[in-house]
Amino acid sequence: MCYAIPGKVVTIDKKIATVEYFGEAKQAINEFDDLKVGDYIYAQGGYVIKQIPEAEALSILATWKETFFQLHELDLRLSRMDLDKTGIDKKLAVILDKAAEDLPLKEADLLHLLNLEGDKELEYLFKIANFLRQKHLGNSCCVHGIIEFSNYCSQGCAYCGISTHNKGIKRYRMTKQEIIDTAYEAIEKYGFKALVLQSGEDPHYSVDDLADIIREIKNRSAVLIFISFGEVGLAGLKKLYGAGARGLLMRFETTNPELFAKLHPGRTIKTRLAHLEEAFKLGYLIITGGLVGLPGQTKEDILKDILLTKKMNTEMYTFGPFLPHPNTPLKDAPPPPVRDVLKTLAVARIADAKNAKIVVTTGFETLHPKAREEGLVAGANSVMLNVTPAKYSQNYTIYPDRAHSGESLQEQIDETLGILRGLGRAPTDLGVTNA
Ligand code: SF4
Repeated sequence: MCYAIPGKVVTIDKKIATVEYFGEAKQAINEFDDLKVGDYIYAQGGYVIKQIPEAEALSILATWKETFFQLHELDLRLSRMDLDKTGIDKKLAVILDKAAEDLPLKEADLLHLLNLEGDKELEYLFKIANFLRQKHLGNSCCVHGIIEFSNYCSQGCAYCGISTHNKGIKRYRMTKQEIIDTAYEAIEKYGFKALVLQSGEDPHYSVDDLADIIREIKNRSAVLIFISFGEVGLAGLKKLYGAGARGLLMRFETTNPELFAKLHPGRTIKTRLAHLEEAFKLGYLIITGGLVGLPGQTKEDILKDILLTKKMNTEMYTFGPFLPHPNTPLKDAPPPPVRDVLKTLAVARIADAKNAKIVVTTGFETLHPKAREEGLVAGANSVMLNVTPAKYSQNYTIYPDRAHSGESLQEQIDETLGILRGLGRAPTDLGVTNA
């Protein structure tokens, strides 16, 4: 439901198209042989995904123009740095002044931010993060859709409610046709321009099956597809890219190798990171990140997770809270405080101010009913809506009492648009880097 404002192609240099949006030039990768200067296109995540007739583009732009500038004004007002530094620790003031001026921060500075606890200090941190988000990336907010098509999983991740640990769960698999039809409806009826296809590691679907599904969705509609099927191997990644997938959502969860091994029996952080690196080399956009508040995790670990996410040229950061599920080995471990998740989002923004798309996860919304409103003014600029048919999504219980469970897609869209409008955010992904 990213409305992806149409842009006009002003130059094409090999595979890079420069596209103009309301006077701003951005760049996107072009895979259309017949794209010409002067054409209008939709872009998502840095890819041209669709050419659109000029008359249609001009009519959409005319409708959007006023709203776009009104939202922009509101966002500018809300992200102003009206800071009251009274009582703020001098060290913190120096660090945040540097951040606001885009000066590089040391790891020790970022760690200092992750360790803040006072309300006033945290308010200051979140304001700077929001200011930087606005300064570098404007008011655009990605709204991707996610289809969770199978809750079968062969893995025993210690925190996960659809892992092999959970014997009480009702398992489901959507058929190929159901997945394709769900994607079609999300794109054509609800306007989504980017979709994540997600499942547990379910051997029922071969890589060829998954490739067929992707190909069929792309044949029917213009959309940016992210895959999230777990570790599919290099050959699998190649085949799925060939079928038309252009993004990979795969969290590494924690960079702490001992913690990773303890939580993921039979798996290593090395292999997980190798998947992400190979995917990036193949051309995938990467969505990755970690869990916040895992038992035994330190603030130093979280900082390493943020820095690694940055190093991996990540398209979108996903950091959500650990939430204990009663049918898993970690059932008695407590979730983290809300402020730890907000601090992680804010420090991620400060560490990668100019590039990061940062999502407010459904996990965070489950932990905290105001997660979207607060996350979006603490550095985040993306949300994901669940477009899985309700009869299935209620059983994708990676943690209990998932936010939005039982809500229709239209209800989710209306609620999201209301929040975004109130914050002056445009539900668009210009999807392109500044030219
Ligand atoms: S985290 Fe992913 S791989 Fe691990 S058990 Fe859950 S769905 Fe399976």
